[in-house]
Amino acid sequence: MKWSNLLIPTVKEVPADAEVPSHQLMIRAGLMRKLSSGTYTYLPLGWRTLLKIMGIVREEMNAAGAQEILMPSVQPMELWQQTGRDVAYGETMCRFKDRHGRMNVLAPTAEEVVTYVAAGEINSYKQLPVNLYQISFKFRDEFRPRFGVLRSREFIMKDAYSFNADPASLEVSYRQMYDAYCRIFKRCGLDYVIVEAESGEMGGSGSHQFTVPCDSGEDIIVHTEDGTYAANIEKAGVDPLPKQPSVAHVPPMEEIHTPHLGSIEAVCEFLQSRPEQMIKTLIFSQGENVVVAVLRGDHELNPEKLTQALGGKAAELADEATIRRISGAAVGFAGPMGMAEKVSHLLIDHAVAAMAVGIAGANKTDYHVKNVVPGRDFPLEGQKVRVLDIRNAVEGDRHQGKKLVFKHGIEVGQVFKLGTKYSSKLGAKFLDESGAEQVCLMGCYGIGINRIMASAIEIRNDNDGIIWPISIAPFEVLVTSVNQDDEEVARTAEAIYQELCRQNMDVLFDDRRLRGGVKFKDADLIGIPIRITVGKRGVTEGKVEIKLRRHENSETATIDEAVARVKELIGQLYAEING
Ligand code: ATP
Ligand code: MG
Repeated sequence: MKWSNLLIPTVKEVPADAEVPSHQLMIRAGLMRKLSSGTYTYLPLGWRTLLKIMGIVREEMNAAGAQEILMPSVQPMELWQQTGRDVAYGETMCRFKDRHGRMNVLAPTAEEVVTYVAAGEINSYKQLPVNLYQISFKFRDEFRPRFGVLRSREFIMKDAYSFNADPASLEVSYRQMYDAYCRIFKRCGLDYVIVEAESGEMGGSGSHQFTVPCDSGEDIIVHTEDGTYAANIEKAGVDPLPKQPSVAHVPPMEEIHTPHLGSIEAVCEFLQSRPEQMIKTLIFSQGENVVVAVLRGDHELNPEKLTQALGGKAAELADEATIRRISGAAVGFAGPMGMAEKVSHLLIDHAVAAMAVGIAGANKTDYHVKNVVPGRDFPLEGQKVRVLDIRNAVEGDRHQGKKLVFKHGIEVGQVFKLGTKYSSKLGAKFLDESGAEQVCLMGCYGIGINRIMASAIEIRNDNDGIIWPISIAPFEVLVTSVNQDDEEVARTAEAIYQELCRQNMDVLFDDRRLRGGVKFKDADLIGIPIRITVGKRGVTEGKVEIKLRRHENSETATIDEAVARVKELIGQLYAEING
């Protein structure tokens, strides 16, 4: 294709609202334009890259035995009510009422719909296993769309769903998808890590997340220094801290007046103490139940771990009335003392149990207590009391004795074993060999197509622009004529362009009548991996320049050799990626 016929609106200025390199470069290189918060129009270059990514995903899914289908974007709310996710998905779900008063959902994902399909069509073990996938738009009304297409409100997802007769078969499907994901991300030129993940919203057990480490990633991944354990922060388990040496003769608890000081920071400043000396008491509601979680002041509660501790049923921070009823005080003054008698679960983080002495809320408005000794002033065992891991890992923590390190990353895909969470509620059943009715086991497997594109840019760019991996570059080769007004240059460039096309290479010809400097700047910005430069002097000598975007230096080739050399380079670049 010729640049002069394409809409490639490159811009010099960094857009004001673009915080991360991929967002800035996707706008500057003319790949896309913003329509509204979290929605984007893909222009020719951007869409070509997305099509290439979808092509790779499709090839690998088909090779792994999955079958492509397409499900509607508009889904009836009733299906979501049957699984209870109408509530669980919350505000992130885009809903609308149709003209007949029926509630609909704009697909944020498709477990419900695919399970409905399976419930209707699968009835015998002979039809299993089956793996159905689609590549389609998904809609999520994200609380804060940001970082361009990394967190948008409308995006393209590949979602696959396996239906299996037994756990061994689910394991096979899960592995097939896991392996296919490894090939997909490798073929897209991404350096990724695989971490254990919490199955979260999806329910069930067993999940891995594919993450591209980079500074702008919103996910935090945690691994041991030797790499034998890796998990995301939601999942990463931490060893109990060593018990602090006990302090001889801690005096009895003593109330301190802390007027209006309801936050850890405020109390610390007032008492000249450190957050790690504080004991924080969080009150949750889980339906009718009240749950109290006790953490060290400097630690953060891990909601996934809390949910797991409560048997998979999420708890929400209690409302003010409940907090007042349970603690007898205003928000910010709860303490663990006397709680075991009042609540359904008293969950105490290991780190609190390891404290020798601390400061807690007094269960009395405007008061804290000091000299609180875990085990003496509140129980560490009992019917409703458990000491366990309910916090996020922090620097210095260990997992099975090994030190943990932390990295930011972008989640590009995730695989889950779902078990019967959806199939049991939506009636996806089959008759087994003995004629007995069984519920299908399920797995689900998602990839963010747009996130692959943005992550590839995040990890490979420089001050001048994008450095695409060849497999997902909008074009493989760029032919740049330095003086398009010169007849011989134009003719030579055109001939090389035509020959590259004839040999099935994916070529963009920058035939614009612009200064060489402008064309080179644009070439670097859009990041096509191989560039052939056809200039006046070279042409007189029968030569052209060939340059890889990622290298500083170029090489010279005769006009006759140029096409063969480019072909060879393309082969090398693919071989590097595909290994
Ligand atoms: P996150 O935790 O980042 O919100 P998620 O775990 O909710 O993502 P999944 O439901 O697992 O996402 O969706 C599958 C894939 O879809 C993700 O791995 C991610 O690559 C992509 N994805 C999810 N939400 C978005 C979004 N708002 N914008 C772009 N891609 C997204
Ligand atoms: Mg996920």
